[in-house]
Amino acid sequence: MKKICTLLFVFVLAYACKPNKEKVVKAKEITVEDIDTTTVRKHLYTLASDEMEGRATGTPGIEKAAQYIEGEFKRIGLTTYDTLKTYRQTFTFKNRRTKKDITAFNIIGVLEGKSKKDEYVVVSAHYDHLGIRVKEGQKDSIYNGADDDASGTTAVLALAEYFKKKNNNERTIVFVAFTAEEMGLVGSTHFGKDVDASKFVAGINIEMIGKESNFGPKTAWLTGFERSDFGKIIQKNLKGTGYQLHPDPFKKFNLFFRSDNASLARLGIPSHTFSTGPIDVDVHYHKASDEAETLNMSNITETIRAIAIGTESIIKGEDTPTRIQLTEAEMGRRKKKK
Ligand SMILES: [Zn+2]
Repeated sequence: MKKICTLLFVFVLAYACKPNKEKVVKAKEITVEDIDTTTVRKHLYTLASDEMEGRATGTPGIEKAAQYIEGEFKRIGLTTYDTLKTYRQTFTFKNRRTKKDITAFNIIGVLEGKSKKDEYVVVSAHYDHLGIRVKEGQKDSIYNGADDDASGTTAVLALAEYFKKKNNNERTIVFVAFTAEEMGLVGSTHFGKDVDASKFVAGINIEMIGKESNFGPKTAWLTGFERSDFGKIIQKNLKGTGYQLHPDPFKKFNLFFRSDNASLARLGIPSHTFSTGPIDVDVHYHKASDEAETLNMSNITETIRAIAIGTESIIKGEDTPTRIQLTEAEMGRRKKKK
């Protein structure tokens, strides 16, 4: 034993006497590799579990999802938005179908910018889905919405944790889990109501990133690609990473107006949705079978990493995308739900 101790001592001494540069222990640099499948899996399986009862707005199931997101925002260390005292932005609205009043809440957490505090970048996804629908002859009645849009909400949580650790956001990042998207973009419309749009530099919305896109592995597409130079900035930042961003291939589906990015784009904010969903052939879309088991965890993880790399120059205040201008007809278009 004594011999070993002496030997160890000699080793330590020898190591300690090595030239200085090797001795300096550098703080571990945060990279996108820190966004891992373990975290992704945890968020996704929790949000898409049967316990959340399909997260329909106005139900106990979405309350559970809200509490999970709030708990994560707190653990990560986000602050509250604007004049709010908690992460909840609560409001009521009338359900178009039942004509009943529903109380709903967006969940918002903030990471204050270092030097450009008054320039906001929104990172968002909707955390609501369709809830429980009992249909004759259908065994499963819970619409878990794993891809739509627990996958996007997972991305919001993972990006919040990443950028908090990264600690280099010159601009303020506003992380939002929107409610009632499935009822007609209600949560995001409420969010946009009283904002000073000129302070909002960009909107990064994420929808359905759990399946490989039509362009192949390590690819995603962006809605409204040609409407601002946001997509070009992302493409520039992704060069050399092996991950590619394409313009939305489903022009006929009008997806730009069918997710929460549209509520901010109507205000002129360059706000787009990232997705990998093969929605032309997706048999689980808006079905009870949209379950966590049908999703590809590495597709989600790689896409979140690509969004982190792709948007970093905007978050650091180095790039500012051009504003969006909609035509009068587009402004008046009835807000369709996805
Ligand atoms: Zn959706």
